[in-house]
Amino acid sequence: MLSDTHAHLASDTFAGQVEEVLERAAAAGVGRLVAIGCDVASSRRSLALAERYPQVWAAVGLHPTYVAEEPNADWLAQLEVMAGHPRCVAIGETGLDFYHPAPEGWAWDDYVGRQRACFAAQLELAAACGKNVVVHQRDRSGTACWEAIKEILGPFQGRLRAVFHCWLHPWEEARPLVEQGHLISFTGIATYKNAPVVAACAREAAAGSFMLETDSPYLAPVPHRGKRNEPAFLRETAAQVAQLRSSSAADLEAMVEAAAADFFRFPSP
Ligand SMILES: [Zn+2]
Repeated sequence: MLSDTHAHLASDTFAGQVEEVLERAAAAGVGRLVAIGCDVASSRRSLALAERYPQVWAAVGLHPTYVAEEPNADWLAQLEVMAGHPRCVAIGETGLDFYHPAPEGWAWDDYVGRQRACFAAQLELAAACGKNVVVHQRDRSGTACWEAIKEILGPFQGRLRAVFHCWLHPWEEARPLVEQGHLISFTGIATYKNAPVVAACAREAAAGSFMLETDSPYLAPVPHRGKRNEPAFLRETAAQVAQLRSSSAADLEAMVEAAAADFFRFPSP
């Protein structure tokens, strides 16, 4: 059994289809999912799905590109209540995004300041409630976003672990983070011919240092590239990563599942 550790199951694109999406996932051997929130509303919907389906767990958080639009001024207090729910296994997704432009009416520096404050507040929340964190990180060019992430995360060393989801960098950049207890996670990009850095990292990454995710409905793996992604397609990403590592499917699966069970503290079956 595989776990899709990052699926936007509460996304509108899956509305009314969650049942069949979960059935296709189960048929593909994807028997556990983390439904991830981007704001208060989708975090709440993710938690509702986790209450309804035993194979679904939830992460609750405010995504960096949603910080300007979140309608609930008390979003942090609402996340705090949700974080205490027994089906909530992480805080996220949170992090920083310097790729997308600031929303209308926002100066760039104010927008970045807001992202940083929301990220730091969610790290505090995670540390306080003893949960780990799902981190989004995207630079436009250069490494300013990446440097800021590490700066804000640094003081939390030893109080929480992070997974750097949708990892796009070389293994050499991941290694120091993994040595601090963090994880990286590979999406369907590992199957793309035009992403040799990701493929090389998936080949070289140390055993136990990474998890797998779809990030569905985004980033469908080959041969579904360009279509709507869904948790069942994690199977293709797992097959490709196993092949890159010259590993058997069963060994790869056992390795990534152990990492996921440890990170999210899934109860043992
Ligand atoms: Zn995501």
